[in-house]
Amino acid sequence: MPNSNKTYIAELKNNVGRQVTLSGWLYNSRASGKIQFLIIRDGTGLCQCIVEKAKVADELFSRLKRLGQESSLTITGTVRADERSVGGYELTVTDAKIVSPTTDYPITPKSHGTDFLLKHRHLHLRSQRQWCIGKIRHTIIDAIRRFFNDNGFILIDTPIITATAGEDLQSLFEVDYFGSPLHLTQTGQLHVESAAMSFGKVYCFGPTFRAEKSKTRRHLTEFWMVEPEVAFIDLDGLLELAENFVSFIAADVLQNNKSQLETLGVDSATLEKIKPPFYRLTYTKVADILTGQKTRDFLAQQLEELKNQKQQLETKIAELEKQQTGQLKQWQKDKIAAELIELRSTLGEVDTRIENNPKHAKLAAEFQWGKDLGGSDETIISQMHDKPVFVTHYPKEAKAFYMKTDRDEEGVVLNFDLLAPAGFGEIIGGSVREDDYDLLLARIAEYGLDVENYRWYLDLRKYGSVPHGGFGLGVERTVAWLTAEKHIRQCIAFPRLMDKIYI
Ligand code: ATP
Ligand code: MG
Repeated sequence: MPNSNKTYIAELKNNVGRQVTLSGWLYNSRASGKIQFLIIRDGTGLCQCIVEKAKVADELFSRLKRLGQESSLTITGTVRADERSVGGYELTVTDAKIVSPTTDYPITPKSHGTDFLLKHRHLHLRSQRQWCIGKIRHTIIDAIRRFFNDNGFILIDTPIITATAGEDLQSLFEVDYFGSPLHLTQTGQLHVESAAMSFGKVYCFGPTFRAEKSKTRRHLTEFWMVEPEVAFIDLDGLLELAENFVSFIAADVLQNNKSQLETLGVDSATLEKIKPPFYRLTYTKVADILTGQKTRDFLAQQLEELKNQKQQLETKIAELEKQQTGQLKQWQKDKIAAELIELRSTLGEVDTRIENNPKHAKLAAEFQWGKDLGGSDETIISQMHDKPVFVTHYPKEAKAFYMKTDRDEEGVVLNFDLLAPAGFGEIIGGSVREDDYDLLLARIAEYGLDVENYRWYLDLRKYGSVPHGGFGLGVERTVAWLTAEKHIRQCIAFPRLMDKIYI
């Protein structure tokens, strides 16, 4: 087998009619008498390889037939275009070499529970879903860097071990630093602020840590955040930057990951809508919406739709259960079993949503001006919109000490959260920063922070203070939204969660 023939599945389109050799793993296979259908994956895609008994050596044919899922192999054959086939191309096999045969691969094409899959994360990363999400995450991270690099921003690497807190003190991870208590960074913001006074436009991009004590589908204890910071900018300027940035990322995913979006079942039309301008609401307006008739009607209608969905799922499940009892080939049984696991899991989610609907309705109806928006409040606002929504001007008590107070409106700060649509909730938090020395000093004291740790930060307000601001976008939340993945733990290769670190 000449090595020069080695081809990746992604390159098959340029090799129709030629003989090529693929190197990869056996993703799935089925046999039907004198013919076998092997689905191979090689990191760039999937390809169905057809092995006919008459065209290969007898011994090879029977070894391939016994080959277990995830065995590694090289396989040679002629490329054929076939629209119906996974990936659009097939290989008519003439030869194969088994690199390492495998038996009893623990993850089968049938579904498994979440806990099992997280324990087997090192293997689960090979699954189609995780592979698609990983490819899209890569595009998102690449787009993030390109957007800032091409728009005159300078990358600043901020420290991971710090003495300053950027967010709530309850979520700090302590580090024993040669006998002194320090902590892992919650945000690079305070440091990028000082860099913005040197370079004008900067960003940091790295891991951040928060000891989140609640288990939600939106929180990890270690996540990646990109934080641009700009000197001489106001709130409107920040909103414009954020909407251009997020639209750029979405466009890049659309351009580079069409087939992954399709595999994940994401409708590209939802991504095509992500273009400026995004919706803009003030916090006060949101509080009115939550406590008003619009939310009551919206949630009542949603409950109706969920009940209908439940009924349809139950009918489908009953049908498949009936089919299961008939005369079927093994692969057909497996297919139905996998579908049933999928449907039952969706039914479980629908049941939870039916159960939560009145609770969320109650929380929304009782929402009081002054509180931060809760997860369910964000979800409601986010579900009401088909494009991202900026919520601006929060009450100052609900937000961090460094946010600039609105000089025109008592009690609110010049900040924004960006809520992704379709229920995904907050993906960005940002603000104009307090640039007045005395006001900032007072806020540091009010928040019970040790002013000594913030002397350097206060210096920025002493030496050439300027209006400035920035925001932080969470990578995993963005991945979850753009891949329509319900749980953030699927959006990073090795998630860190409150209750457990698996791998
Ligand atoms: P939330 O209210 O949802 O906890 P936050 O207000 O604490 O978010 P910020 O401090 O504004 O969030 O952080 C900026 C961004 O970082 C958020 O918009 C989100 O995308 C991301 N983020 C924050 N906390 C987490 C977390 N625990 N896990 C994953 N991403 C997070
Ligand atoms: Mg938080």
